[in-house]
Amino acid sequence: MPLLRSRVESANRADGPFPLNNLPYGVFSVAGEAPRCGVAIGEMILDLAACEARGLVDAGGTFAQPQLNGFMALGRARWEAVRARLTALLAEGASEDVPLVAMAGARLHLPIRVTEFTDFYASKHHAFNVGALFRGPENALPPQWTHMPIGYNGRASSVVVSGTPIRRPMGQVRGEAGPEWRPCRRLDLELELGAVVGADSTMGERIGVEQAEAMIFGYVLLNDWSARDIQAWEYQPLGPFQSKALGTTIGPWVVTQAALEPFRCAGAERVNPLLPYLHEARPGLYDLEIGWTLNGQVMGRTNYNVMYYSSAQQLAHHSSSGCPMRVGDLLGSGTISGPGREQTGALLEMTEGGKMPVMVNGASRSFLEDGDEVGLFAQARGEGYRIGFGPCTGRILPTRP
Ligand code: CA
Repeated sequence: MPLLRSRVESANRADGPFPLNNLPYGVFSVAGEAPRCGVAIGEMILDLAACEARGLVDAGGTFAQPQLNGFMALGRARWEAVRARLTALLAEGASEDVPLVAMAGARLHLPIRVTEFTDFYASKHHAFNVGALFRGPENALPPQWTHMPIGYNGRASSVVVSGTPIRRPMGQVRGEAGPEWRPCRRLDLELELGAVVGADSTMGERIGVEQAEAMIFGYVLLNDWSARDIQAWEYQPLGPFQSKALGTTIGPWVVTQAALEPFRCAGAERVNPLLPYLHEARPGLYDLEIGWTLNGQVMGRTNYNVMYYSSAQQLAHHSSSGCPMRVGDLLGSGTISGPGREQTGALLEMTEGGKMPVMVNGASRSFLEDGDEVGLFAQARGEGYRIGFGPCTGRILPTRP
């Protein structure tokens, strides 16, 4: 599909993140007014609450809410109807007056009320590299890894929107003469894509992969900040705890599954066949360039198509015990790393556990220092257009005194 031309001229640039083909949803506010739902188009935001108030679009009044949960809960048929209506309203030559706000003058908020947060571990390169650093190359990949998506139940309470500062945590770590209590010295990022679940399931219900995919509303950039020294001391036998609870940053724009559909592709080659409950009838990943910057310098760059499990497979596995899912459930993909050092999505891997520091604007880094700013980026390349995700940044503040 080529670029769909829009009445908003800034949406017609070949290299802009928000053409008419994209239409990502977010929550914004301007000058003292209440946050409400909007959609990004070029350098503007279409005020969806105002659209509803004028009768231009019908989402049952949910666009006046300060998160997308109400709209998502209306279901897939309404998502499709609204997308078609917005595409018509914003198309080149459309005549109805529409309420647009300059993005530069708007504040962007957390787009969803995050009801639960689960983080997975689905890049084989990342799982191997990190496993080798923690346990040696012989024991790097756990025996179940190629058979099922590995994850842990994270914290929804510390998920924040892009631009929110992240404070270096205190923690208990392994010291020379026993455990120590001190500020984290190995603070890291994790480059991930978060799937936003837009439908509920009931307790006891098992969700098939196909149904799981239909429940995913869209995707956000996601940085799973990680305290590696705290993680190394605490993670066995139940997995990460305080090392991952310090904060998770997501981007302000939810890029819909519909916008990513033209970029659907297969993922990493299977090591062994999956059990039937994880079979995918069609490929569930996307050809999506994704990477990260440190203090403005591009550090790692890879593609979401390196992943071994799709979000739909992760969701299906998540419900396999009968665990119910909720509108606003956030599923982190796991760190996205390709095979090469410059394709890694975390400093732990890039610096081989801190042993091989990298240069950032002339300064050496093994892990993040106070004042450092990490940014994530992603884009899919279409014919004469791109699907972008907007910013996903966070700056490190010193430990709270
Ligand atoms: Ca993670």
